[in-house]
Amino acid sequence: MSEILTKKKQFTLKKLNKGLRRLTGQAISDYNMIEDGDRIMVCLSGGKDSFTMLDILLELRAAAPIDFSIVAVNLDQKQPGFPEHILPEYLEKIGVEYKIVEENTYSIVQDKIEKGKTTCSLCSRLRRGILYRTAKELGATKIALGHHRDDMLATLMLNMFFGGKLKSMPAKLVSDNGEHVVIRPLAYCKEKEIEQYAELKQYPIIPCNLCGSQPNLQRQITKNMLNEWDDKFPGRLESMFTAMQNVVPSHLCDTTLFDFKSITKDSGIINGGDIAFDKEDVQHTIEETNSIEAQYYSQQQTLEIKELT
Ligand code: SF4
Repeated sequence: MSEILTKKKQFTLKKLNKGLRRLTGQAISDYNMIEDGDRIMVCLSGGKDSFTMLDILLELRAAAPIDFSIVAVNLDQKQPGFPEHILPEYLEKIGVEYKIVEENTYSIVQDKIEKGKTTCSLCSRLRRGILYRTAKELGATKIALGHHRDDMLATLMLNMFFGGKLKSMPAKLVSDNGEHVVIRPLAYCKEKEIEQYAELKQYPIIPCNLCGSQPNLQRQITKNMLNEWDDKFPGRLESMFTAMQNVVPSHLCDTTLFDFKSITKDSGIINGGDIAFDKEDVQHTIEETNSIEAQYYSQQQTLEIKELT
């Protein structure tokens, strides 16, 4: 049974809703995610992110100056124990058009993948194909996925750690089969706020471990690392995300993005010149600066003593 919210919780919910709506609206506008006449297929997994995305998109649609429609889609992969009544009941209650697609990818994956090996990559490939097909059947012009800022940051880190690429999850792109436009309206939203919002909204969340597979361990480790940074160094994740929107190819090393070969001294100062190592680019507190200075002098002293002895 749903809990009656206290005044304080209602206030928090309102505040979170306002913030999420603002950030989602901003992302939609920055990337031109939704246009007049669009039919948006909202992928609903039953997790906190997709419930929040659907909610916020419905609210934005009600207030938008343009006309677009929303159809929620859930893929029932026939995992044991999947509570198939939950989403139809919820979607009927909020009065949104929806489609539940039933495909037993669970048994295909169990059949094809050796016991003990991770099933996620085949499972998500199958899921993607089914969702693309469904988008076509439903005449959807865009597919909306519920990934948020922290998913994008974790992907950026994972690609650097294991893929040798400076690459994240796109806020808007053409799908890998070249047939659909995929959008991530929650691109600017923080996971912590979505989590809090979903809890207060009391969505009927469906657990994501029904298949019994291990979640992607490296992604989990990376997420934990980011969360730890967020606790210890407030503002770091915000800065990292801003960095993704502020790429300076001349100060990286990709020769396909920037023509380093033709630089001569007559090229003029490019993007602020070669000052990337200067202190002014990194804001330290007075205490940090003092400590860095103290370390420097102590190292110098050690070197001098070594030279004398
Ligand atoms: S956790 Fe289970 S349902 Fe999710 S992608 Fe992996 S195998 Fe598929």
